[in-house]
Amino acid sequence: MANYQISLLPGDGIGPEVAEATRRVLDATGVGFDWEVCAAGLDAFEATGELLPEATLDSIRRNGIGLKGPITTPIGTGFRSVNVALRQELDLYANLRPGKTITGVQSTFEDIDLVIVRENTEDTYAGVEFDTGTPEVAAVLAAINANGKKQVPLDAAITIKMITPEGSRRIVKYAFEYARANGRKKVTAVHKANIMKFTDGLFLHIAQEVAKDYPDIEFDDRIVDNMCMQLMQKPELYDVLVMPNLYGDIVSDLVAGMVGGLGVAPGGNIGANAAVFEPIHGSAPTHAGKNVANPVAMLLSGALMLRHLNEQDAAERVEGAVAEVIAKGEQVTYDLRADRDQSKAAGTSEMADAIIAAL
Ligand code: NAD
Repeated sequence: MANYQISLLPGDGIGPEVAEATRRVLDATGVGFDWEVCAAGLDAFEATGELLPEATLDSIRRNGIGLKGPITTPIGTGFRSVNVALRQELDLYANLRPGKTITGVQSTFEDIDLVIVRENTEDTYAGVEFDTGTPEVAAVLAAINANGKKQVPLDAAITIKMITPEGSRRIVKYAFEYARANGRKKVTAVHKANIMKFTDGLFLHIAQEVAKDYPDIEFDDRIVDNMCMQLMQKPELYDVLVMPNLYGDIVSDLVAGMVGGLGVAPGGNIGANAAVFEPIHGSAPTHAGKNVANPVAMLLSGALMLRHLNEQDAAERVEGAVAEVIAKGEQVTYDLRADRDQSKAAGTSEMADAIIAAL
């Protein structure tokens, strides 16, 4: 079979080190890859004056699949985050965030196996905002107040919460398709439709409609605050959770915290024509270039990519090898050691070697 063509964005900070570890492990699975290495982030900015060069976007558009390391967002330069720009430019509407317990990783909860599907493009994140005291907000408030239903104070700032039928339909469909393809049993729609009757009400209504097309998958819904409490008390009752952008942002971090946090939390951003897989952690600049960063989150993002490519067997081997090395607790980076002793810890590349040996 022909090799998969993958756009590899190593990113900056610890990105190049965890990306190299991931590339070596994925190559060792025997699944064939041709890696097209693409610039993005601070190094790209120094070379081309752009944080996200057009050539990088073209590569992902052409290959349809990207694997990305973290990228620093420069503060105070007026640049928008490369991560947000990628999602918008490629319309990557689904944010996939699995949270699975790995034996040997310190966490308060046991046996967690959840998948959060977060809508990535709508809600209060669509960027429709009006600052307090501006002529723009005055015009919007005048229109709202003229409606006569409710009077909004004239010094208010406004963020629009925007939920569309099509945006809701495609994210809920994605959650059900993911459940089906990955042997999952249940999808739960998370919302606050009791308060936001029109926006979240629409999301819930569409979710109920889409669920009818998937009689093989159980469906229910939860109000977001209750969902958070239930995740703390009875996480075993849940499987795939689908929700609008803001709740997804918060609940996916909650679940990442339940399984051990940043160092082991993978993610994917998926659209109709392209998908980009990346760890949720940032570029950790203080660790850059020292061969100390934990490669697991990026490696598990690579396993998610394998699942997306329908290489389930290779994905399970990578996840199994990662779990085995962590459970042994010898060839692991400092953050995975109970004593966090750097002098006794393995480096990024040594941990990757141990994972390759365990494949
Ligand atoms: P961060 O995730 O880089 O770091 C938070 C903490 O976790 C630090 O103590 C760091 O040392 C540690 N850490 C993170 N990943 C680690 C790993 N793989 N191994 C060991 N330790 C690890 O978050 P931050 O400090 O808030 O952000 C740093 C930069 O990264 C910022 O410019 C931010 O905008 C950017 N960022 C990028 C992404 C992305 O590219 N998707 C995501 C989040 C933050």
